[in-house]
Amino acid sequence: MKQFLFSFCLLLFSPVISQNSFESISEINLENIQNGQVKKYWLTMIDNGFSQPISIPVIIFKGKEQGPVLGLIAAIHGNELNGIKVIQESVKEINVNELKGTVIAIPGLNALSISQDRRRFVDEEDLNRNFPGKANGNRSQQYVWRINLKILPKLDYLIDMHTASFGRINSLYVRGELGDEKISQMALLQDADIVLNNKGVPSTGDNIAATRTMRAEAMLKGIPTITVEYGNPQVYQDDMVKRGVVGVKNVMNWLGMQTFATPEIKPAVMCKKSYWIYVDQGGLLDVPVELNQIIEKGELIGVLRNPFGDIIKEYFAPEKGIVIGKSTNPVNIDGGRIIHLGILED
Ligand SMILES: [Zn+2]
Repeated sequence: MKQFLFSFCLLLFSPVISQNSFESISEINLENIQNGQVKKYWLTMIDNGFSQPISIPVIIFKGKEQGPVLGLIAAIHGNELNGIKVIQESVKEINVNELKGTVIAIPGLNALSISQDRRRFVDEEDLNRNFPGKANGNRSQQYVWRINLKILPKLDYLIDMHTASFGRINSLYVRGELGDEKISQMALLQDADIVLNNKGVPSTGDNIAATRTMRAEAMLKGIPTITVEYGNPQVYQDDMVKRGVVGVKNVMNWLGMQTFATPEIKPAVMCKKSYWIYVDQGGLLDVPVELNQIIEKGELIGVLRNPFGDIIKEYFAPEKGIVIGKSTNPVNIDGGRIIHLGILED
C-alpha cells in the first residue's frame, strides 16, 4: 500500500509534458509572436491514413530587437539524429531577452521517418533530392512542397544538419559554396574537421536541375546555407553535439544575434572537392584508414575478400586526400562505397 501511495504521488507530482501541451499550427506566423517570446509548436505538414495530422516540432525565439532569422533544421533524413541534439542543446542557451532577431529551430524535419528509424520518406524517396516538390505530386513531393512553402521562405540564414547514413561514418564536416562570402563565413565558424567547397546548386549548362537538395533550394531563394555533417547515423555522439553547439553559437555571434563565449576552434582542413570511391566487385570489405587521415596517392584504402577469406581485390587511393567518410558495413555488392575522399586545396 505504501509503495502504491508513493507511486501515486510520483504520478501526481512528476512534471509531465504531454504532446497536447504545445499549440498546433498550420503555418508559421512570426507576426503573431510578440517580441521577447519563446514558442514551441507542432507544425502540421500532412495527414496520415487515419486522417490524423503529421506534425513537426518547431521552436521559435523571437528577440526583443530586430535582426536576422536563423533557421536550424535537423534530420531531413530520419536516421540522422545528432543535429536534433545540437538544436536542443543550442536553444537552451539562447536568452530571448538579449536576442536580436529570430531563431526558428526544427529538431526533426522528417517526422514520419525519424519515428521509424528510417533515412528515407515512407515512399522510399529521399526528401533531400526532391526539392522544390510538387503541390499535387506524390507523397514525398507534397511533403517537400510544404517544407518549401511553410518553412524556407521564413529564413534569412540556414544551418542544415545531417550525419552519415547507415553503414557509414563521417568526420564533422561542412559543405558549402565557399565562393559566397557569407556561406564561407558560416562554414569556417563551425568546429569542423573539414570544410568542403561544394557548389550545391546542380545545373547542366544554364539549366538548374529539376530536383535538388534543401540547401540548393534555400540558396536559390537567396538564403545563405551550409550543410553540416555531424558524424554517424542513428546515434547521439556527445563530442559531435558539443562541437555542433559551438558552431551554432559562433554563427549567432557573427550575425550579432547574441554574444556567447565560445572556445577557440582549430582550423579545419580545407577541401576544394570530394568524391566517393566504390568497389567494382562484390565481397567483404576492410577499410584500413581512419576518418580525417591524410592519405597519399597509391595508399591502400580497401581490401575485398570472398567469404573464404581470400583477397579478391585491393583498392588504392587514386590521389592524395583526406578521409571524410568511410564504409563500416563490410558487406558490399558492386558499387558499394569504400571512402569519401576530400581533395585538399592547393
Ligand atoms: Zn543527410
